[in-house]
Amino acid sequence: MKFTDSQRFYSVNNFLKEQFGKKMIKLSIEAGFTCPNRDGKLGYGGCKFCSSGGSGELASDIPSQINLLSDKWPNAGHLAYFQSHTNTYAPIDVLRSKYYAALSHPCIEGIVIATRPDCLDDQILDLLAEMNKDYFMWIELGLQTIHENTLTKMNIGYHLADYDKAIFELSRRNIRTVTHLILGLPEETERDMFDSLHYVTNSGIFGIKLHLMNIVSTSPLYKEMPNYVSFDSLDSYVDLVVAMLEEIPPDITIHRLTGDVPRNILISPEWSYKKRTILNAINKELRTRNTYQGAKLDI
Ligand code: SF4
Repeated sequence: MKFTDSQRFYSVNNFLKEQFGKKMIKLSIEAGFTCPNRDGKLGYGGCKFCSSGGSGELASDIPSQINLLSDKWPNAGHLAYFQSHTNTYAPIDVLRSKYYAALSHPCIEGIVIATRPDCLDDQILDLLAEMNKDYFMWIELGLQTIHENTLTKMNIGYHLADYDKAIFELSRRNIRTVTHLILGLPEETERDMFDSLHYVTNSGIFGIKLHLMNIVSTSPLYKEMPNYVSFDSLDSYVDLVVAMLEEIPPDITIHRLTGDVPRNILISPEWSYKKRTILNAINKELRTRNTYQGAKLDI
């Protein structure tokens, strides 16, 4: 990836434009799945940072989203984004029918499926491999951190070994993977966050999502740590993200650099709903430092 003054990291939007020759929009769909960390298989409370909407508060159905977006982007293509809760957690025939129902919509040109690394058994992996042969696809894996003590404290319920296994099985089926990390989890130091970053960027991923740790009013963490603020200021967050971008290989696509929660449930950081402001500040800081994704890896 060759970077320019205005484009200093490899955004997934750029990747999709290269791939499809037009703007592509992900449509977040609510497929009605639950999560083993909510339905009692692993627990009932969910991950402590998770809102009751299952980290997909903004989801709605495909036709209504296409209607809403068609005036602004009449020529865009669309990917079906199975975002809310755990989108590989259902009987295989249910998964098959929901995935193919989305793919059969005439405006849908590919599929993105978000899940937990411990919810990918062989049957599901084989179904994903089957779809991957015929459709554009990537799988998003929540990892959040590589540190077992944080995984336990946040009641996440899977382990780094589950991630390793998922990555191995997806890679050997040639399925693209995007890994999610959360920046600013309670008690994690900057060193801890960089260790997680280095681990996942060396795991053969196609893309990465860096989420700003938000406290939302509907999460268990708000009840436990109501005054917790992951980053004191926008500047401190921007500093960290820019430093991280410098250590991400330039061929890894960047899918997110902020959080994304509805303002009406956001508690902290109070500035974190300003996605555009945060992204502008990151881009400005990259230009000011005259740096870019992977810059530190060139040395
Ligand atoms: S963050 Fe994901 S895995 Fe955790 S409780 Fe929420 S939906 Fe389940």
